[in-house]
Amino acid sequence: MLGDLLRRKGYRLVDYGQPTDLLVLNTCSVTEHAEKDCRYEIRKTLRHSPHAFVAVTGCYAQTGAAQLQSVPGIDLIVGTQYKMRLPDYLPAPDRLMKQPAPELRHSRTIEREDFVLPGTAYTDSTRALLKIQDGCDVMCSFCLIPFARGRERSRVLDDVLREARELAAHGYRELVLTGVNIGRYDHQGADLVDLIQALETIPAVTRIRISSIEPTTVSQELLEYMAASPKLCRYLHVPLQSGDDRILEAMNRRYTAREYEALMDRAFSLMPDLGFGTDLMVGFPGEDERAFEHTTEFASRLPFSYFHVFTYSPRPGTPAARLEQSLGPATIQARRRLLTELSHTKTMAFYEQHIGRTLSVLFERGARDGFRTGTAGNFLRVAVAAEQEMAGIVRDVTVAGIMDGLAYGIFPEAARSSPRTDLLVTTS
Ligand code: SF4
Repeated sequence: MLGDLLRRKGYRLVDYGQPTDLLVLNTCSVTEHAEKDCRYEIRKTLRHSPHAFVAVTGCYAQTGAAQLQSVPGIDLIVGTQYKMRLPDYLPAPDRLMKQPAPELRHSRTIEREDFVLPGTAYTDSTRALLKIQDGCDVMCSFCLIPFARGRERSRVLDDVLREARELAAHGYRELVLTGVNIGRYDHQGADLVDLIQALETIPAVTRIRISSIEPTTVSQELLEYMAASPKLCRYLHVPLQSGDDRILEAMNRRYTAREYEALMDRAFSLMPDLGFGTDLMVGFPGEDERAFEHTTEFASRLPFSYFHVFTYSPRPGTPAARLEQSLGPATIQARRRLLTELSHTKTMAFYEQHIGRTLSVLFERGARDGFRTGTAGNFLRVAVAAEQEMAGIVRDVTVAGIMDGLAYGIFPEAARSSPRTDLLVTTS
């Protein structure tokens, strides 16, 4: 979206790492090394483009503005509140000039009002990200996001629809709804289901996908809607973080493992073919052997199709940063490895359970070793041998096996005309 706004201002976007007159760094404060990463990127760019104007925005520009002011080479720092106005703070492309000290556009608090986002977030895929919400009021004890992105606010419904129509007109078939806590979408009484319903009326939008949604915000209404909808993907990514109630409480996650499990039961009873992923955090202070066992037991027993495993790192200013860490790095790494391996096993099982089934697949651009790849609604990645470009096309595919970590598929007409290609299984 920022790229689109910069284009409108007369800038031409170059590939990352290429010589440039302007570097815009959209930073993250979730990682421990935000400042170090930022210094590194700036040094690297100024090596090949010594006159490049450097603008820094995003979460770290919001939470670490004071530290960033002493980083050499920065010309402009823009906090979250003003991020989308960044192009307005830049001179015209032919007037860019390095500054003696960085200019700061920042406010300590972020307005709670609903917002619009001018422009359109074009990407190179057949799938486009559509931001519908920002900020979070939950205040998990480990998380800086409420400080970096502010309190919850929703994007104006008409503005979401305007961008969705533009994306559809540019050939994007799948819209992925993003935000910090999208289950809390609420624009003048229209909630997430109302928004999805409105998006479904755009004929050229084939699919709508929810990116990540907090467990406490997945309503029964949303599950029932997903089960019945022809466009909303049967896919949920619901961060769990831990399977241990004591740790969940210390994280201020506001649900118990049993409640999370009940949510999964309800979802799978309505949609047995659902793709269900989660985030797990290892090494939170106080995560003793028993707590970690609860997480592994929970993660192995329930029908997750994958997990993203994160290592806890204390973020300055958060309540968890004051907790004592008794776990050594080796233990944390071992736990991370174990859960990552478990995730791989779960993913393979998810793929295997689809062998012989026919799924509707949206194909992406290009080919990979002669195979066209795409995704099913439940996020199963599928490869099919086909010569012609299939970007943006939706076709039924019968899963015949697993190949290099993808489902290997054939078109059903080919499956009918040849004996069953039984099981091609290789793993990556
Ligand atoms: S719900 Fe997500 S964004 Fe909000 S505080 Fe918790 S971890 Fe951070």
